[in-house]
Amino acid sequence: MALVGIARLASQSPLLEAKRTVQYFEIPTRSVLNRTKPNMPFRWTINPYRGCEFGCKYCYARYTHEFMEMAPEDFEDKIYAKAAAAHLLRQELAGVDRKDGIAIGTATDPYQPAERRYGRTRSILEVFARGRGRHLGLITKSDLIVRDIDLLREIARANVLNLHLTITTLDEKLARLLEPRAPRPGLRLEAVRRLAAAGLVVGVNPNPIMPGITDDEPSLDRLAQACREAGAVAFGGGPLFLQPCAQKVFFPFLEREFPHLLPRYRQLYARSAYLGREYKDALAARIGRIRERHGLSAGYAEYKPEIQVEEQGNLFE
Ligand code: SF4
Repeated sequence: MALVGIARLASQSPLLEAKRTVQYFEIPTRSVLNRTKPNMPFRWTINPYRGCEFGCKYCYARYTHEFMEMAPEDFEDKIYAKAAAAHLLRQELAGVDRKDGIAIGTATDPYQPAERRYGRTRSILEVFARGRGRHLGLITKSDLIVRDIDLLREIARANVLNLHLTITTLDEKLARLLEPRAPRPGLRLEAVRRLAAAGLVVGVNPNPIMPGITDDEPSLDRLAQACREAGAVAFGGGPLFLQPCAQKVFFPFLEREFPHLLPRYRQLYARSAYLGREYKDALAARIGRIRERHGLSAGYAEYKPEIQVEEQGNLFE
């Protein structure tokens, strides 16, 4: 039967947009703590999720979906929550030296939208809140972190805890292009403010710093100043690292949004995923000047937690 009226119009309407559908899975895992390579500032990492819905164009963690024989684009649409994360962590921590640094959220964001549904990050924080004397870090782009201020404060009373918000730019339009589904920079700054006001140690990472996009000194300086005013004590500063699987997403993005930069990027990353010494040295000097101007430190802060291991006994319940 031939379609008529509104049905015919609907069937002939051009597609404006195909809405993304995100799928969530639970993936079994043998271990929740991953050992890092030597010379990292922490010995262990925890990533409660595989894949990340924020979909940053430069994301280097897309390779983790390649391991599962998926396309780099699947990284933002197929999200895997690790099963029994807190249970595994409790068991594994028994064999980990207290002096070993443990960082949460090094590969995928621990406060991405999946966390609202599955709470794996919160379950991990609950384990740490019952422990003493650890050195912990957590990195995120999401203001959802303020949901857990109660637990974070409890952890910081008996452990050294450094929090890091990633803010690549204050420019909301640019942030929307680079990090399409991450909370906007203003929300992240507000999260810094609330965490610092709660007495937590918080720094900001403007990473990855992108040549010709976010690396100019005035913009980085304004960002550092805003972070300092919000209560941040540290300011990172690492340049973009671009593995081939990240290039598959980032180069077409450049072609669309910054076509004049594409030849330069092709040349910069022709032989390696890392930028050359000359660029890195110039950037390090720029970041050093900015930190000095705003009284910001480079990385992790050491402090004496209110509750010391000696006073409480050497325990992890
Ligand atoms: S928030 Fe981090 S893990 Fe998530 S897409 Fe962006 S860079 Fe990748």
